Amino acid sequence: MYITGLNFTGKTLTGKSNTIFEAENPALGSKIAPSFHEATQEEVGEAIQKANMAFKDYSRKSGPEKATFLEAIADEIMALGKALIQRCKEETGLPEARLNGERGRTVDQLCMFARLVREGCWVDARIEKADPSRDPAPKPDVRSMQRALGPVGIFGASNFPFAFSVAGGDTASALAAGCTVVVKAHPAHPGTCELVASAIIKAIEKCNLPDGTFSMVQGQSTSVGLAIVRHPLIKAIGFTGSFRGGKALFDEANARTEPIPVYAEMGSANPVIILPGALKERKESIAKDLTASVTLGVGQFCTNPGLVFTERSEEEGSFRELLSNTIKEASSGVMLSGGLQQSYKRGLEKLSQTNGVTLLAEGKEEGQGYLGVPHVFQSTSESFFTDETLEEEVFGPSTLTVSVKDKQDLLKVIGKLKGHLTITVHGTDEDLKNYADVIRSLEQKAGRLIINGYPTGVEVCHAMVHGGPFPATTDSRTTSVGTTAITRFARPVCYQNFPGHLLPDELKDGNPLKIWRLMDGNLTKE
Ligand code: NAP
Repeated sequence: MYITGLNFTGKTLTGKSNTIFEAENPALGSKIAPSFHEATQEEVGEAIQKANMAFKDYSRKSGPEKATFLEAIADEIMALGKALIQRCKEETGLPEARLNGERGRTVDQLCMFARLVREGCWVDARIEKADPSRDPAPKPDVRSMQRALGPVGIFGASNFPFAFSVAGGDTASALAAGCTVVVKAHPAHPGTCELVASAIIKAIEKCNLPDGTFSMVQGQSTSVGLAIVRHPLIKAIGFTGSFRGGKALFDEANARTEPIPVYAEMGSANPVIILPGALKERKESIAKDLTASVTLGVGQFCTNPGLVFTERSEEEGSFRELLSNTIKEASSGVMLSGGLQQSYKRGLEKLSQTNGVTLLAEGKEEGQGYLGVPHVFQSTSESFFTDETLEEEVFGPSTLTVSVKDKQDLLKVIGKLKGHLTITVHGTDEDLKNYADVIRSLEQKAGRLIINGYPTGVEVCHAMVHGGPFPATTDSRTTSVGTTAITRFARPVCYQNFPGHLLPDELKDGNPLKIWRLMDGNLTKE
């Protein structure tokens, strides 16, 4: 399949700059043709202007119209067939089976948002009828619903080239809300980004939607992304990636004359707490399954379990031995890019040199390319209290075990924890009763709490929360996975004393769309 290396300024392909870059095959360390043109500030501006023009029309599209569009994107992505998987495999080093699965997840996400907006009640329609006879003052007719924010900028991460990239959850939820979208392509998989962008453009044409509903700009330097965040017509940012990147964009958005929301989903160390009963009963299976979770996808998941807490005991000693053995048996894998491998190596080196931290074991270095070798370290709560960097994510197949003295010490450790995407607890029935206060305290620290499972593998469903308190995200009130993600790209608008013909269909008398609405405080479809 032919890849142009150009930017999508709406439907128009442009490449005005001489600043070019190529994708790299992380398994071979070699460049892949063609060259990509980094977008100029002018091209970014044009894309955003078009997104602003298109918003006037696109934001007024009905739920069924937006649903048809989202489904058309899903169809066009599938129509790219093997060529998409092949290009992505070359750019990321990820195995075909994983990429097929992730593509499936991505089209399912699009279809999930299509079902959501076709059904329609996500808009949270609320109607309070007027009461002119109310004493002492008459009550006005007050109605409200969620409305799209405007043109938004979306940044994808390198580790999910489909599901958190060009047509990933952020783009799907923003388009579902009625926002127009300008994507900053990830430079680690620019060809994959271009192919997926071309599928979205085809869907726009098929559905006869305005030019500018979607644009995508390429770039290897931060200036492209910053130009999106700084542009006055951009009304929100969706970001998945590193803490460094997310925080930089968040600060930039807050420095604007008009600050805008930044929904940055960033890294996380995803603590796992193994309670004494579970450690005694099933340390072998926990060591084996934990190793599988730590090394899954060469540890390149934001939900990778990077911290493991156990209470000091003999059982703890044998658990560490078991974990060391399973890590020693684990093989390395190709990391997504040379840059990520370098930052993984820096993280390992820093841990090795930290006072109070010792290396327990490392896995086998096998194969070629930018390899990530599994590692396990050990430390204590005493060191954890004095060095807050021990809580930081080391992005790769590594984990740090931390020995705590007892339950009180564990509570103290939890009190010190910052925000994480997930926290997992392993316990027997008795443990879970005895540590109920510990488990309750975790609600303040993570977006998702897991009992007797592992954090990797995020179910895409209505009830999912993939978020959490800072520094896991820059807005703990939302999620980037699941249908609630749509609310990030909408805001409530209230219509007071509006004549029926000026009201959106969702708020009209007679409920023409037959959606659930809150009428004078009662949920009804009447
Ligand atoms: P990244 O380096 O932060 O890149 C993400 C995007 O942000 C890229 O397009 C990058 O463009 C841009 N960017 C980064 N820093 C920037 C800055 N200062 N100014 C402007 N743009 C900037 O992230 P990654 O390495 O691809 O992804 C790995 C990280 O993502 C891990 O920490 C992982 O835990 C996290 N992650 C989180 C989730 C989640 O849902 N919470 C999911 C997946 C991954 P340039 O490359 O051009 O700078």
